[in-house]
Amino acid sequence: MRAIALDKPSGKPTLRTDVPEPAIQAPDELRIRVLEVGICGTDRAIVRGEGGVPPSGSDYLVLGHEMLGQVVETGSEASSDYKAGDLVVCTVRRPCRLPECPTCAHGESDLCYTGKYSERGIVGAHGYMTSRIVESTDFAVKLPPELRPYGVLIEPTTVVEKAILESVLIQNRLDWVRNLTDDQEANRDWRFVKRALVAGAGPIGIMAAFVLLLHGVETHVSDIRPRDGYKGRLVESIGATYWNVMETPVEDIPSSTGSIDLIVEATGVAPVAWQLLSALGVNGVLVFTGVPGDRGGELELEGGHLMRQMVLWNQVVLGSVNANRSYFLQAVKDLSEMGRRWPQQLASVITAHVPIENYETALTSQPADEVKAVFDIPEN
Ligand SMILES: [Zn+2]
Ligand SMILES: [Zn+2]
Repeated sequence: MRAIALDKPSGKPTLRTDVPEPAIQAPDELRIRVLEVGICGTDRAIVRGEGGVPPSGSDYLVLGHEMLGQVVETGSEASSDYKAGDLVVCTVRRPCRLPECPTCAHGESDLCYTGKYSERGIVGAHGYMTSRIVESTDFAVKLPPELRPYGVLIEPTTVVEKAILESVLIQNRLDWVRNLTDDQEANRDWRFVKRALVAGAGPIGIMAAFVLLLHGVETHVSDIRPRDGYKGRLVESIGATYWNVMETPVEDIPSSTGSIDLIVEATGVAPVAWQLLSALGVNGVLVFTGVPGDRGGELELEGGHLMRQMVLWNQVVLGSVNANRSYFLQAVKDLSEMGRRWPQQLASVITAHVPIENYETALTSQPADEVKAVFDIPEN
């Protein structure tokens, strides 16, 4: 089988032709034909030499963690829920399975305590940029057929589903939010988030805007590109307001919009991310989703001012990584609704379908107006 892989000895991406055909080994497994795989900043970082660990015993790592596939064969225990032809998306992270890790045991490997998890296409497990894979139903979710055009966006959507739902849960600390809600749905109450700012109009940021708008939140998106460019027009066509921070610095945005309750950081640039605190309102939450390199993000902050602001305004800053299966289920639900409301715009998030032969260019460069480029994976 062919696969786009990182060759560990040379550190270069390659199109391999010798990847073994996978076979079902356990009754709960699915054999899946991969249809599309999204190209993401993480893949490009791996190709630049930042991270990327092959499974033990392998000298290459099949890349890709944002997949859409179709079931071709089911294990005996999987056959009641899945059948050949079903669309599926698989999650990324696999649990550490260590006894001292209660979160992994609970299906929340995104919150793994030991750090000894693996991630398909990133660390310790092969990814999805290949024709066929085998996966346990524990790590797969089924998609309705109408999500075929955008199903590859599920994984990036799960990142913001988690980040935003965690922020909503945190706001449950506010007594007035608790008092407004009368049942166990309290931690899913969105009323506190009246106004949100998403920083960065890449795939994560744009999917965050879709999720927020779906919940009726007044949504603003900031980026460094002009407002009449591709991303600006896309963002405004779904009902969010676009801010070019080259014209309006982020700290000036609230003076036009009013207090901002939630900021979703989706830039991956540390100095930009911390700067967002200057736009955060009273009782606000700032959630980081970007993963910058370990070095090169040095910045100077007026620490006294920021600490004073955070304390006096009861602000929360949190980081949020990856997502477990529950967020994939939520993303399937939300993407279905987005597809009904904004079919054209949702399709416009995918800006390029790339043949796998063009792997080198696609993994080493990024066109200015790209939102999400995906590899079309051939059957052979
Ligand atoms: Zn990704
Ligand atoms: Zn764990």
